[in-house]
Order: sequence, then C-alpha cells, then structure tokens
Amino acid sequence: MTSSNLSPADRQKLDDLHEQLRVISLRNVGYPCNQDFDYSELFRFLHFSANNVGDPFHSTNYRLNTMEFEREVLADFARFTHAPADDWWGYVTSGGTEGNMYGLYVARELFPEGICYFSEDTHYSVAKVLRLQHTRNIMIKSQPDGQMDYADLRETLRIHRDVPPIIFANIGTTMKGAVDDLAQIRAILDDLAIANAYIHADAALSGMILPFVDEPQPWNFADGADSISISGHKMLGAPVPCGVVLARKAHVDRIARSIEYIGALDTTIAGSRSAFAPLLLWHRLRTMGDAGLRHIVQNCLANAGIAVQQLRTHAIDAWRHPNSITVVFPRPPQALMEKWIIAPSKNIAHLIVMPHVTTDIIDAFVTDFAAAVNSEPRTKNREPSS
Ligand SMILES: *Cc1c(COP(=O)(O)O)cnc(C)c1O
Repeated sequence: MTSSNLSPADRQKLDDLHEQLRVISLRNVGYPCNQDFDYSELFRFLHFSANNVGDPFHSTNYRLNTMEFEREVLADFARFTHAPADDWWGYVTSGGTEGNMYGLYVARELFPEGICYFSEDTHYSVAKVLRLQHTRNIMIKSQPDGQMDYADLRETLRIHRDVPPIIFANIGTTMKGAVDDLAQIRAILDDLAIANAYIHADAALSGMILPFVDEPQPWNFADGADSISISGHKMLGAPVPCGVVLARKAHVDRIARSIEYIGALDTTIAGSRSAFAPLLLWHRLRTMGDAGLRHIVQNCLANAGIAVQQLRTHAIDAWRHPNSITVVFPRPPQALMEKWIIAPSKNIAHLIVMPHVTTDIIDAFVTDFAAAVNSEPRTKNREPSS
C-alpha cells in the first residue's frame, strides 16, 4: 500500500493541509510548542509497528520496542531534575497531562485519604484528573503574578493538619510562567510539623528551561519534589505530543507491589505506549547536547527580554518572570488575535518566545500589536494587568 492509492482530490486535500500548517506554524507565538526541529533521520522508523508497552525497566515479550533508548532519555531527565541516584523511576508519557496524572496517582496510592492542594493558576487538566481519581482537593488562591499564595496555603494546611497533603506545584504556570517555590512550600510543611506530605511538580514547559539557567528557582527533586512531569513537545519540540514523568523509586515500588499482588507488573498509566516518541526525544537530546540546549534556552530568554522591551516602547504593559520565556500583556485587540495564534485568558494574553520565535517574528508581532491598539477605539481591553 502506498499513498499513490489516494484519489487526486484526496491528495490535493493533504497538500492543502500541508500548506496551511506550514504557514500557520510560523505565527504560533502563543502556545509553547517549539517548531524548530528536523527529525527526518527518524522517518524510516515509521515503517515498524513498534510499541513500548509496559515498564521500560522490565523486559517485555513484545521485542519491537525502543525501551533502551527510552531508558537513556529518562537518565538524561533524571540528571536535569537532580533525581536521587538509584532512587528514581519514570517513563515516556503521551504528554504533560499523563505525567501529572501519574504523579497524582502515586500520591493518592500513598495517601488514600490525602487532600490535593493546587493554585487557581493550575492547568485546566488537573481538576479533571482529580475528579477522575476521586481525590479530595482544595484550590488555593494565587498571587497576582501567578504564584501560589503561600499565606493561603499555610492557613488551609493548618486547618487540615490531620490529613496528609498532596501539593500540586506549578513549575511555570500556563498563562504567566510563574514558579511555585518548593523551598517555601517545604518550609511551611516543616513549620506546621506535617511529616507525611507529597509534592508533585508540574514542569510542563519550565522543566526544560530551569536545568539550563544559572539561578533556577527551587523546583526539582533536590528541592523536595516527589514526582515531576515535563512535556516533550513544548521546549524540546516534537511532531507528536509526548513527555516524561519521573518519581522517587521508593514511592513507585510501593504501588508496583500492590499491583503485582493482583497479578501484573503494570506500572504505566497507558498500556500500549509510543515507541516513536522516545526516539524523537533521544534524537533531540543527542543532537543538541547539554551545551546546545543551554544555548537555545538562553537565546529564548534573551529574546523574551527583547520582546518585553519592545512592547513597553509602544506603551504596552508587558512583563515576565525571571527565567521565563512567557511574556504577559493585556489582552490584545481581536484583529491581532485573528492574525496571530495567541492564547488569551480573561484580561491577559501572552507571547511564548520559543526557539522558532525569532527577533524578526517578534518585530512583526510587536508592529502588528501596536497598529491594532492604535486603530482601536479606547476600550476596556486596555486596562493594565494586575
Ligand atoms: C501544557 C501544560 C500542561 C499539559 O501538558 P500537555 O503536554 O499539553 O498534556 C500541564 N501543565 C502546564 C503548566 C502546562 O503548561
């Protein structure tokens, strides 16, 4: 079977789609998906029905797999996240959401009565995961800059001191790029003498930024995380959604045993898993190397700084967090959102300065933004962000 079996009309439809995606991909400045990659060396692997079903650290009967590459990818991420030597486990997921689900699943198995605390700025998928798992949960207020309100966390924990907390920490919120401070969260738990606690770090985007900056906020295993989820298709960039989840092995062993009891060692959430995604991540990590990754991250951070400056030059109230490539500004006029792919939320929106967002693209975006603002009658949209 080859694609030559396609009718001319169907072939045209595919060609049209290709052209559409090609054009639009360069205007994607609002979602954190790096478009700047070349995986053509891996195309030949699309001829196999490979599958990484099951635990990547156990042998499987299905030998068409890429688990050896998956383990190498995981070892790199263990290094990036300061995972404790010989005390971590993980797998390549279908994306950040599955990684968060895995972390919350481990937490709930350890503390069946636990309450999950997460801030208002948490990714929308987390409330769904908690509902799926029937995990008790309490939303914590956010500060205006997007970080968790630590005073509200402390007070809420104090009221529920008898119940083990499961803290869902944002390492780079979706809208504002805010990092919940793990050191501060750990200090609050210590202060309240809460010994049984679990911290999951949702590092979907920033998990591939913070390993490559000089002064990262406290965010990883060394700072007290029990599990960490990172997206693969965001900062690294991939043509299919994917990600990585890591957890302390001691936790995972406790739940693996409980599943072994019912007859299987089935440690991942999905059964069949992509064998192609680990190859993509492996290829990216090996072709970039740590130095290459540091270079693209530093470049994005510098360009994000330039974007803030340029927007401010046009009296647009833009800002960003330290170590963040997310440039936040008041919600732009509709005309701008029609031309550019931007994610708005209430009265704000953002530019995410990924590797494909070059200074030329930033220039064009800022020019369009300023023009759209000037041609717009004065409206409520221009109120500054808090
Ligand atoms: C994107 C994102 C997610 C979801 O990750 P997917 O890879 O899209 O499933 C979760 N949390 C945060 C903070 C995100 O930005």
